[in-house]
Amino acid sequence: MTKPNISRRTVLAAGAGLAGLPFSGPLRANPHRASTGSPLPAKGAVVIASANGLRTVAKAYQEVQGGTRPVSAAIQGVAIVEADPNDISVGYGGLPNEQGVVQLDAACMDGIAHNAGSVACIENIMHPAQVAEIVMDHTDHVNLVGQGAKDFALSYGFKEENLLTDRARKIWLKWRASHSKDDDWLSPAGDEIKNADFERLYGTIHCSVLSASGDVGCTTTTSGLSFKIPGRIGDSPLIGCGLFCDNEVGSAGATGRGESAIHSGGSWLVVERMRSGDTPEEACLYALKRVVSQVKRQRTWQPRLWSEKENRPSFNLSFYAIRKDGLFGSARMIRGGDNPTYSVCDSKGARLVKGPVLYES
Ligand code: ASP
Repeated sequence: MTKPNISRRTVLAAGAGLAGLPFSGPLRANPHRASTGSPLPAKGAVVIASANGLRTVAKAYQEVQGGTRPVSAAIQGVAIVEADPNDISVGYGGLPNEQGVVQLDAACMDGIAHNAGSVACIENIMHPAQVAEIVMDHTDHVNLVGQGAKDFALSYGFKEENLLTDRARKIWLKWRASHSKDDDWLSPAGDEIKNADFERLYGTIHCSVLSASGDVGCTTTTSGLSFKIPGRIGDSPLIGCGLFCDNEVGSAGATGRGESAIHSGGSWLVVERMRSGDTPEEACLYALKRVVSQVKRQRTWQPRLWSEKENRPSFNLSFYAIRKDGLFGSARMIRGGDNPTYSVCDSKGARLVKGPVLYES
């Protein structure tokens, strides 16, 4: 794809209204550029999300174009998926932990004020990203967890709701009865739930937003790794891991094996690579390669993370990024079928896109 035909420094400084402000990192040309992702910086707002976020990007784009700040536009966009019982990786309908309890993680970050909020292991609250936004806007803290996060949400008028749908409960029951041969659970009757449904599932929604005036914000919200150990916190509520933005540079987020996004500080790394001159797509690929090199060391204590047969990590991980000049991109560890890998919305409308991968299969 073509490179932007104007200098990045000009665009970043001018587009951001940052002319005259010191840029905290060197903006150098990347000698290894293999530029892909968006071919030219978009004019106006840009929204990117994981592949389950087509409706999200459309909604967030409409919001940010209407004057909503980027972080709030992202949060309103992901609310659609948080409330969707058919998405079993986020909010209502999300798969539960190993005890059958849905515990949600979410965070948000506002590039304008460089502020962030998050909630982790919150139960019975359908829109954790909205709670994270209140933590960000109304407290001097960043992270609230468990009962404290729930009490906080209730104090702001959120309603307690049962988030475990019948379908998610049936998948969990089947997982509980099937995951070990050495326990006393007999398989539930009927084959309404296919085996594929209860493989350990990662799945989350990340959404990053760039406004037409060059401000960024983002959110990531999830029910986390299915059947996780109760109390497990993934990358989604951790700033720098499941999401990060810097109004001088851009915004990024992750979905997939959260522990790897945590071990690598993945979203922070993507933003820092963009600060150093990478395109969003290059930055996402760079972070994935960093994860691969880390997994090669980690397989000594966790062999399950590495597939000897395929000679690659055994899990998936994706990064998504928007740079302040409107370039966007994403990259995924393993293709995993013919499906699109991310969603985007700009002046050309909302669409699903197939991004690059490190491993085709
Ligand atoms: N990253 C999330 C977590 O580890 C799950 C996912 O994105 O699939 O909790």
